[in-house]
Amino acid sequence: MEELSHYIDGQRVKGKSGRFGDVYNPATGEVQARVPLATAEEVNEAVAKAAEAQVAWAATNPQRRARVMMALGRLIVENMDTLAEAVSREHGKTLPDGRGDVQRGLEVVEVCMGTPALLKGEFTSDGGPGIDLYSMRQPLGVVAGITPFNFPAMIPLWKLAPAISCGNAMVLKPSERCPSAPLLVADLLKEAGLPDGVLQIVNGDKEAVDAILDNETIQGVAFVGSTPIAEYIYSRACSNGKRAQCFGGAKNHMIVMPDADLDKAADALVGSGYGAAGERCMAVSVAVPVGDRTADALIERLVPRIEKLKVGPYTAGEDVDFGPLITKASKERVAGLIDKGVDQGATLVTDGRDFALQGYEDGFFVGATLFDNVTAEMDIYKEEVFGPVLSQVRTESYEDALKLTMDNTYGNGTAIFTADGDAARDFANRVNVGMVGINFPIPVPLSYYTFGGWKRSAFGDLNQYGPDAFRFYTRTKTVTARWFSGIKEGGEFAFKPMD
Ligand code: NAD
Repeated sequence: MEELSHYIDGQRVKGKSGRFGDVYNPATGEVQARVPLATAEEVNEAVAKAAEAQVAWAATNPQRRARVMMALGRLIVENMDTLAEAVSREHGKTLPDGRGDVQRGLEVVEVCMGTPALLKGEFTSDGGPGIDLYSMRQPLGVVAGITPFNFPAMIPLWKLAPAISCGNAMVLKPSERCPSAPLLVADLLKEAGLPDGVLQIVNGDKEAVDAILDNETIQGVAFVGSTPIAEYIYSRACSNGKRAQCFGGAKNHMIVMPDADLDKAADALVGSGYGAAGERCMAVSVAVPVGDRTADALIERLVPRIEKLKVGPYTAGEDVDFGPLITKASKERVAGLIDKGVDQGATLVTDGRDFALQGYEDGFFVGATLFDNVTAEMDIYKEEVFGPVLSQVRTESYEDALKLTMDNTYGNGTAIFTADGDAARDFANRVNVGMVGINFPIPVPLSYYTFGGWKRSAFGDLNQYGPDAFRFYTRTKTVTARWFSGIKEGGEFAFKPMD
C-alpha cells in the first residue's frame, strides 16, 4: 500500500510518529494509501526550518516572487490531468469536478502573478515641512494553512499562493483524507523555483493542528473547514496572539420567486444541490419557493431531473454527475439525517438511502434525495448535511423567504431566481449573507474579488483570496521621514550651494 509523506525543506519525507491515517477510495470503500500523522515535535521542526527560509524569501523582490507564481501557473496547466486525478482518486468527485477544483486554485495563482502591484504602499509628499510619509506591506513571517477535504487542490492553493507571494513561509496542514494533491503542488512549486523550506507540508490530525496553534513562531493561521473546528481554531489562535481567519460551514438558501424561469431554477438547484455529492460549502441545500404554486411547479421539474442523474465512481466516465461521499461515517451521518427528516414530518420525495451500484457495494454512495415541506425546526434544515440532499421550505411571501434566509445561523452563499430587478436588488442589499447570486446558484466570486461568508460561516475580519488575502498575509508599516537639509531656515534653504 502506498505510504504518503510530509514535504519538508523541498523534499518528501517519511513521518516519524508511527501514527498513520487511512486514505480511502470512497467508491470502493477500500483503503488505498496511508498518510503519516505528525507529532508536535515534527510540526515545530518544520516551522523552525520555515522561519530560516523565510528571511531570504522576504528579501527576494516581489517581481521575482511573482515569477515563481507565473512558473507555477504554467506547471499547473501542464499537469492539470495528474492533479485532477489525484483529487478525484481520494475525494471521489468526478474528473470534470476534479479539474474544476484545480482550475479554481489556478485562478488565485494567476492573481498572485500581479503581486508587485498588489503590495504597493502609499506615499504622501510634504505631509509637513520636509516630511514625507509612506506605508509598506511586510510579510507576517511564518503562517499556517489548515484545509478541508472537499477541495483538496483549490483551498491549499487559495492559502499558499497569496501567503508565499507576500513573502511569508507557509506551513500547510492539508486534510488527512485527501493529502496527495497538495504534495503534487509542492513538487511543482519546487520546479517553479520556490526555495526549499518556504512551503512545508505537515500531514496530521488534531495533534498537528494544536501544535500549529501553540507554536510561538507562527504569526497567522488561515483555516477552512467545519464551523465547530473553525470556531475552536479561531479562539485558540487569537488567544495565542496570532492573526486568524477561519471559514466554516454553510446552509445556502435559494429563493425562487413566482416570476422566475422555473426550468432554469430547477436546473440550477440540481446542479448546485447534488454536484460533488453536495460536498461544497457553496452548495444550495435549501430551495425556498415563494407560494405553493411555485413550490409544486418546482417539484414537478426537479423529480425527472433527479431521476436522470448518473451516480458513480470518477472512473466511470465524464458523464457521471456525482460520486460517493468522503467516508463511511459521512454516509451514515447523511442517512441518519434523512431518517430524522422523515421522522420529523418532512415529505421524502426522492430517497437516496438505498442507492446501490453493482461492483461498488462497499462504496460511500448516497443517491440524490429531495425533501418537500421542510420546516425551520427540523434537523434536516438546521444542520449542514454536506451530502446530496435538497430540502424545500415553502414560504408565502418574499419577505418570509428573506426572513428565513436571514434567521439562519450560517451566511456563506445565497441566491434568488427572479425576473424582477427590484426584488433582486432588494435581496442583494438586505440579505445578511456574504456571497449573493442573482439567477446564479453558486456565486463563488472570481479570484480578483474575495470569498467569505457572514454569521457562523466565517470567523475573522478579512476574506480569502483577492485583495483581502494580501491584507491578511501582510502587516502595514508606516514611515514618517524628515530630511533636515531640505528645511528652510530663515526663509532660505539649508542646502549649501557648491561654489
Ligand atoms: P473539518 O473541520 O473536519 O476539517 C478541516 C481541517 O481541520 C482538517 O485539516 C482537519 O484535519 C482539521 N481538524 C478536524 N478536526 C479537528 C479538531 N478536532 N481539532 C483540530 N483540527 C481538526 O472539515 P472537513 O470535513 O474536512 O470539510 C468540510 C467542511 O468544510 C464543511 O463544513 C464545509 O462547509 C467547510 N468548508 C467551508 C468553506 C468556506 O470557505 N467557508 C470551504 C470549503 C469547505
